[in-house]
Amino acid sequence: MGWWLLVIFIVLILWIIYSAWPTFWTRVCKHSMQTTGLPDTVSLTFDDGPNPVYTPRLLDELKAQDIKATFFVLSERAQEYREIVERMLEEGHDVQVHGSRHWFVPLLHPFAARMQCVGAARALQASFCVTPHVYRPTWGAANLASLFFVRRSGMRLCTWNVMVGDWRNTEPEELVRRIVGKLENQSIIVLHDSDHTFGAETGAPENVIRAIPAISEAVRSRGLRFVRICDCLGES
Ligand SMILES: [Zn+2]
Repeated sequence: MGWWLLVIFIVLILWIIYSAWPTFWTRVCKHSMQTTGLPDTVSLTFDDGPNPVYTPRLLDELKAQDIKATFFVLSERAQEYREIVERMLEEGHDVQVHGSRHWFVPLLHPFAARMQCVGAARALQASFCVTPHVYRPTWGAANLASLFFVRRSGMRLCTWNVMVGDWRNTEPEELVRRIVGKLENQSIIVLHDSDHTFGAETGAPENVIRAIPAISEAVRSRGLRFVRICDCLGES
């Protein structure tokens, strides 16, 4: 009996070191980029795409509002919907790494964790002639291997400081109210342009697209300007 308890204890300690601590370190201890670091700015970021239904319409709305945003894409979807990523780049948006697929990184072995960050970045580089320098782990959850590979490759970790539950169907007015309630100078706002991810409700990005004009108005009425994550790398 004593041996089993010892084994459980060792497994628990290893799990904390490999999975729990890196996520705590990244999110709670803020050892990731969570603000722009540039005065009077806000960064609008979108995770989980590209999506053939929502992302093109989101790009239309961003163009109408003259907003340059950052898309943390999944490299396999980027290769499936190449023309959408090419349009993002043509229209001046920033494309960075969210993973190859939307897996839960803390449960991945080191090689799979490496594929999610460095592997996905290389896939995007090979397909689109971009050099992503920033990794936002899926659900903001890392493990020890992903922290190691991100650091070794010279990439940066980025999370957010404004999240409003837009993956659930929420009226645009309510999304805007929540964003305005949390908005600060240098905020990084995370939203989602896909409803394919586990936990997302079908149609939720519709509300995000409809909220863009009011988000634009709320940010600019405070004297803040939109920047992309790539614009902030030298400063924060
Ligand atoms: Zn995600």
